[in-house]
This record gives sequence, C-alpha cells and structure tokens, in this order.
Amino acid sequence: MNHSTNGHRNNRHNHTAHKNGANAENDGTAALSEPLRFVPIDGADAHSAAETGIVVSGSDLLALEDRKTVDEFGPSFFEAYESTEVVTGEPEQYAKIEEAVHALLDAFNVNWQDPNYTDTPKRVAKAYMDYWANGYARDAEDEVTVFPNSSGNGDLVVVKDMKFYSMCSHHLAPFTGYGAIAYLPNEHLLGLSKLGRILDIYARRFQLQERIGAQTADKIMELLRPQGVMVLLYDVEHMCMSSRGVKLHEASTTTLATRGIFKEDAQLRAEVMSMIR
Ligand code: ZN
Repeated sequence: MNHSTNGHRNNRHNHTAHKNGANAENDGTAALSEPLRFVPIDGADAHSAAETGIVVSGSDLLALEDRKTVDEFGPSFFEAYESTEVVTGEPEQYAKIEEAVHALLDAFNVNWQDPNYTDTPKRVAKAYMDYWANGYARDAEDEVTVFPNSSGNGDLVVVKDMKFYSMCSHHLAPFTGYGAIAYLPNEHLLGLSKLGRILDIYARRFQLQERIGAQTADKIMELLRPQGVMVLLYDVEHMCMSSRGVKLHEASTTTLATRGIFKEDAQLRAEVMSMIR
C-alpha cells in the first residue's frame, strides 16, 4: 500500500475559521497555520470506526453530508439497550460456548466420527473468546498512553488504512474493512498506533458498523479531549450481505462519525476526506 502523503502538504486551506471557543486558550492562529501533518502507519498494526453517515457502495465520500447521519436516529439509537456482554476469560465461559457450538452442529446432524468436527466446538469457543469478541475484555485505558502536546501545535493528525475485523450482531457474520481516524489535538496526543488499538477494541465485539465508529470517536474524545475527531469506516464488506445478494455482493458500506469541530466544519471534513481517498 502506498501511503505517501507528501502531496497533501501544500494543500492546506485557510483554517482560521476553525479557531473557535474550544481553542480559545491556545494560540490557535499559529497552530492552524502549520502545514498538515499526515502520518501513515502500517495497517497491519491497527484495526478500526464513529457518528455516522451511512453510504452503501462506492460512493463519493464528499457527498456524505447529504446522507443520513446517526443523529437522525436520535441520541438514544445506541443507548436504548444496556450492553451486558462480557468476556471473562474463565474456563467456564469457554466451556459454555463449546457446549453451544456442539448443540449447533448437532442441529445439522454432523457426524462426530468425522475428525474434522472433533475439536471444532473447542476451536470455535477459543476463537470467540480470544479473537472475535475479545474487545469486551479490553479497556482502552489499559492499552494506550496519552502524551502532553508539548509542541503546542494544533496540526491535524490522520491515520488511515487500518484494517479491522468485526462480527455483526444481527447474523454473527464477519464484517471487515478499513478505518481512518482524524483528530485535531488540544493539549494531548496519542501514540499513532494506539488509534488503531482503540478501533480494534470496539470492532472485536458483536457489533454494528455505525456503533464501532461512534464508540471509537467517543473514547478518543474522552481520552484526549481534542478539538474534534472523525472516524471513517470504509470499504467495509459485510458477509451477511455479500454472501447472499446478486447485486448486493459488490456493495461496500461507509460510515462516518464526527465529534467536536468536525461536526461543525464541513471544509475540514472535506479536507480530511480528500486525504483519505
Ligand atoms: Zn448482519
């Protein structure tokens, strides 16, 4: 993957308009006159998503603003039901899942003499607990370190092409795609690979694509208190869609979550979009 971004360095628009109340204590003018800093990282090191425009198929991302956003579903969209999922790591939970997978395969009347099935329940239990749903057992606070923004500048940070893996809560089918996260710092910075780590924590659950993005954006806001954050999940393929439809199989889904300054500033959003695509 070519992540070279030097071409973007001279593309900076005048961001004076972005200086607002949130940045009133800083010298926002100096900070915002700095060139954009776009820091690519190896996608393998990260996985990822937030507030949301929902777009199906290879659409023009800049048109996202015309699309439906999660806000239109109302603030309680993701909060209507308390999340009670848990991954304890205890042997009892592995055993319970193993038992359930055994029952599932029994429903298909599999031949348990076939060695290909012998350890399947155990393997599936391990996969759920250790990989597919391990996000429930992890706290972003334990995995990331927040640094003081000693340079004091307010350069935009964008990381893209972070591959993520998740599983839809509707079908327990995998969905995978890429995440890009942009934030405009205030007084704190995050290690770049840690953006992908937060995305990974929220992806490795029974999920909705939109919710991964929203939770990732909210967590970054909570940890860093930046001027704003934007989480784009793109080229996302949902197996539950792609495996059945004739036309749908080529659809990919894009969601966008914005917080803070990115919610208000269409020009800033558009600029980030142009860097990502
Ligand atoms: Zn599904």
